[in-house]
Amino acid sequence: MSLAGETGVPNKRLESKSAVVTGAGSGIGRAIAQLFAQEGAVVIAVDQNQLSCQETVQLMERAGGRGYCIQADVSSASDVERMVREATQAVGRLHILVNNAGIYRRAPVQDMAPGDWDLVMAVNLKGTFLCTRAVLPQLMEQRAGRIISIASRAGRQGEPSASAYAASKAGVIAFSASLAGEVRDYHITVNAICPGGVDTPMAKVAPVLPGSRLVPPVDIAQVALFLASDESQAITGAAIEVYG
Ligand code: NAD
Repeated sequence: MSLAGETGVPNKRLESKSAVVTGAGSGIGRAIAQLFAQEGAVVIAVDQNQLSCQETVQLMERAGGRGYCIQADVSSASDVERMVREATQAVGRLHILVNNAGIYRRAPVQDMAPGDWDLVMAVNLKGTFLCTRAVLPQLMEQRAGRIISIASRAGRQGEPSASAYAASKAGVIAFSASLAGEVRDYHITVNAICPGGVDTPMAKVAPVLPGSRLVPPVDIAQVALFLASDESQAITGAAIEVYG
């Protein structure tokens, strides 16, 4: 690890790393993709929305970064396996996975349609499992890697009228902590980030809870960058609260 080059100019923190970022077509995922590319990573931007995913790659390239767009639905095992195959072909090796793709549904329990419950679980929790499972063999083989999942304050504290969302995010936190123990000996760190309110399209339908302030997506991206970098090698199984 080095913080400064011989010139005194800080080195890029993710030089020669590759990162898969899901849900990279908007909000927090786009901010993470842009920041990681700026820090030298080759970024595989994944989103079910191809157009917005391509826009993210254009933004990275305009800023001098490198990236690829792969359209995939993280809740589909076959999509995820194809995505990881294509990503590996494009960049050779994967080092970092950011499970960020997520959806939000608002309804009190008595009005929640079972289909909405299933969808939230499928994208937020099963999607995190599927992407992690698909990337893990490579990380274990190279005995290094970073897995970062975007959970939520709702997963810590619950959120009235968003029980499916809160339960899915509590699941992401528990999944992450459990996996951390499984892969500790492989030098793979597994951590979750729990944002409060973040100024993205999702925040237009989710209320900002008392004690939170709406923060810009880059504030979450900076925490993800730390967890992706060498500096955080001693942190695993954590759920970092970023409530603004
Ligand atoms: P957003 O709606 O702006 O972006 C989500 C992205 O995920 C979109 O580009 C969407 O197309 C993509 N996506 C959705 N379902 C997908 C699927 N099945 N497969 C692939 N891509 C899919 O939301 P955001 O605010 O940037 O949220 C990003 C993450 O942060 C989510 O997991 C969210 O739950 C979490 N989060 C957001 C906030 C907030 O206040 N915005 C707070 C806490 C946690």
